[in-house]
Amino acid sequence: LSTWIHGLAANQKAWSVLEDNGSVLDAVEKGVAIVESDFTNRSVGLGGLLDRDGKVTLDACIQDHDGRAGAVAFIQRFEHPISIARAIMERTPHVMLVGTGAEKWALENGFEQIDITIPEVRVAYEEWLRTSEYKPIANRENHDTIGMIAMDANGRLAGSCTTSGMAYKIHGRVGDSPIIGAGLFVDGDVGAACATGVGELMIRTAGSHTVVELMRQGFTPMDACREAVLRILTKNTDQKDMQVGFLALNKE
Ligand code: ASP
Repeated sequence: LSTWIHGLAANQKAWSVLEDNGSVLDAVEKGVAIVESDFTNRSVGLGGLLDRDGKVTLDACIQDHDGRAGAVAFIQRFEHPISIARAIMERTPHVMLVGTGAEKWALENGFEQIDITIPEVRVAYEEWLRTSEYKPIANRENHDTIGMIAMDANGRLAGSCTTSGMAYKIHGRVGDSPIIGAGLFVDGDVGAACATGVGELMIRTAGSHTVVELMRQGFTPMDACREAVLRILTKNTDQKDMQVGFLALNKE
């Protein structure tokens, strides 16, 4: 399962990995990587919209059935943040690296930086600069983070999440998407959840973790998502027009 219309291509890729007997972790990595490489996508990967300093900054995380996790945040010029997140999980004793430290580590570990300029993105940025107003737009299709959760034929779960974050955010802002428990949470004993929408609301409520904990208490995936959204609505009365969404999968 994955978020938004761009998730269809990601699901297809993930499904083919599983059909070829690939691991569920490979499936969620390779699935979202398709969207990271689609430079026509304006909210995931290097085709994403810019921050207010005119940079594309990327966030991603991955988590497996046993709760092992890797995450990367505020990195620039890498095509596949999700693969860097996985490498951090598999090759370091840490969960998360950010900014220049993460970039340095990635370069030392076989990942390459590339430069791409997308005229349309530049034009949109110049247009935005005229007012420089930061207004996250709610309820529009074909935008936003890709979060993916999956189960293989043996019932093993994994999840991934990758994004260029909210357009025109403050340089250095990190949203929910690379934060385990906010943008993604996997517990093989219970289920998995991922999130999209205004990241600040997910972080404040540990959104994806909340959904998984509710499933642990017996909520269906749908009811767990509904309850988590209701909590966000109740606790954040100043944020009524903002959009949030969850996907959830229980181990059944
Ligand atoms: N959650 C992402 C962020 O806050 C954006 C989104 O999914 O809409 O950066």
